[in-house]
Amino acid sequence: MAENSTNFNQKNTRLSNNGKKSGKKISGKIGSSGTPKMSFLNIIAIVILVFLLLGGLYSQYSSKSTNTTATSLSSIAQDVQKGKVTSLDVQGDKIIAVYVDKSVMTTQKEADSSITESLSRLGVSSAVLASTTITIESPSGFWYVVGEIAPFLVPLIFLAIFIWMISRQVRGAGMQAISFGQSKARITLPNDTKQKVTFKDVAGAKEAKQELLEIVDFLKNPKKFIDIGAEIPKGVILMGAPGTGKTLLARAVAGEANVAFFSISGSEFVEMFVGVGASRVRDLFKMAKDASPSIVFVDEIDAVGRARGSGMGGGNDEREQTLNQILVEMDGFEPNEKVIVMAATNRPDVLDPALLRPGRFDRRVVIDLPDRADREEILGIHSSKKQRAEDVNMKIVAERTPGFSGADLASLMNEAAILAARENRTKIGQFDLMRSIEKVMLGPERRSHVLSVKEKEITAYHEAGHAIISSVLPYSDPVHKISIISRGRAAGYTLKLPFEERRLQSRREFLDDIAVSLGGYVAERMIFGDMTTGASNDLQVATALARDMVTRYGMSEKIGPVALESAQGKVLFGMGVSDREYSEKVAAEIDSEVSRIMMDARALAEKTLGEHKNAFDAVAKRLVETETIEREEYELLIASQGIIVKKKEGSLPVSG
Ligand code: ADP
Ligand code: MG
Ligand code: ZN
Repeated sequence: MAENSTNFNQKNTRLSNNGKKSGKKISGKIGSSGTPKMSFLNIIAIVILVFLLLGGLYSQYSSKSTNTTATSLSSIAQDVQKGKVTSLDVQGDKIIAVYVDKSVMTTQKEADSSITESLSRLGVSSAVLASTTITIESPSGFWYVVGEIAPFLVPLIFLAIFIWMISRQVRGAGMQAISFGQSKARITLPNDTKQKVTFKDVAGAKEAKQELLEIVDFLKNPKKFIDIGAEIPKGVILMGAPGTGKTLLARAVAGEANVAFFSISGSEFVEMFVGVGASRVRDLFKMAKDASPSIVFVDEIDAVGRARGSGMGGGNDEREQTLNQILVEMDGFEPNEKVIVMAATNRPDVLDPALLRPGRFDRRVVIDLPDRADREEILGIHSSKKQRAEDVNMKIVAERTPGFSGADLASLMNEAAILAARENRTKIGQFDLMRSIEKVMLGPERRSHVLSVKEKEITAYHEAGHAIISSVLPYSDPVHKISIISRGRAAGYTLKLPFEERRLQSRREFLDDIAVSLGGYVAERMIFGDMTTGASNDLQVATALARDMVTRYGMSEKIGPVALESAQGKVLFGMGVSDREYSEKVAAEIDSEVSRIMMDARALAEKTLGEHKNAFDAVAKRLVETETIEREEYELLIASQGIIVKKKEGSLPVSG
């Protein structure tokens, strides 16, 4: 598969066919509608020009007769009688007399009588009349008409223009709504290299890559599959925690297969205008078919693909239509259309079952959080373009970052680089990396957040309480660091890290975890006889855990082996969902079980701190002095007070 990836020349075009920005870049088929909009000034200029032209023509027309002399009808009549006039030209109610000497006189015709009548009445003999050429031009010339109606027309034209402008402004608002209908997909064409991603850029995720290789193979050699009559997968759904590289992997598939990649996020589908989401889907799929072989990637599909009909408040119509359209489009694929739909979600549990049935997103690829080796590899990828000092040991960093996603690790590397640059060093050191771990995990240090002496003491005992309990209880994690420098929203923190990564957690571990969480609260109560708001987050975490034990994991003897809640959406739109599937009686039992677990944990925490009061005091005092205690110092300190420091073997997960 070692494939040449340099004959690419990538461009990431934002396809939003609304004329101005990109227009028809992929192919003429992807229509771009509408003429370019004229600016207001252009219109004014054109109007003025037209009027100048009109005026000019008109005046030129009228000037034909203005370099002539006006005179009275009777004097012309006399001249006619005298034989001075060769011809008379009647234009409307104007008489133009051409004389023998080529001079021209004009006069006004009498309104109600013909020219011959007028002339004979003024004494012109009929013989003379007969010898004079009289032409009568009917007044039907275009410019004559314009001249006649211009006085009425001009204000009308202005009015019309005015109305048109106003209506254009109104339409301007509507136009945007119309352009929503066109897909906002970002397209990455295969002949672009700048942002090209391949499997090489994705560390770990071996199983996922393995599964996706099949898709790559199909996109590269569709014929092979079609000839044998194989059913080609239409949809692949990537599932995994946020930041595990789903989007990255989808782009890597397109990169490996060398095909066009259309990407749109689920939330982009869901716009305020009803029906727009569905029309976007149609657009997107049309574009993809025109450019096939290609991949259509719907990121965060849970935004549209939530189980239909389960929403609250009826705000779901738009989403349902969009989802239906996706399904219709997928069903409408011909096997040889060579378009594969990929989707990503971190909430597979809320997806509509219709999406997952065969023929749709029937391939499911799960991407796990990276394990230790993967983390090291990801760190390697993200540090390859950065300057590293010799002391950097990615293995140690990887060990210290269980639970970090690929995105977290990328951000860790970046934080470290920023730290080094801020201190004017040219290379990233191990020290920068270690500091960045905490920053990514807990938010930046807030040294400026000055604690009063009393607060400092309370925080020190609070954190020491967590730490001691964590070190003493058999199923909790060893302490890596304690600090009373506030970070993010926490006043202080105790960093515990498991020896191993865990996929399963046991009841005993949960119980110890709850006791550790309550350590701060218990410590404050024990030492100061009072409690502070500093424990509120601890209490939330502990209570949630206790509740999950009872309602999800069947870890309460009294409730027994029933799952009363599923993992998903206990809270929707900030409101508790009321369609509980158990009775009031069970609800009361759950509450009493949860509070029993919490009480037991508190008792355990109190007992532990009471039994190790010396170590507890020593750690708290040391914290007040130094503000931060690292693992080595901490272990020496508690060992000197008689606590046996946990060794690796001590904390393996215990089942049951
Ligand atoms: P998701 O879509 O799953 O939320 P992303 O694909 O957007 O996550 O990942 C965010 C970033 O994290 C990526 O751009 C990449 O820099 C980094 N990343 C995540 N997983 C990996 C991985 N396996 N290998 C390398 N980088 C990764
Ligand atoms: Mg993503
Ligand atoms: Zn705490």
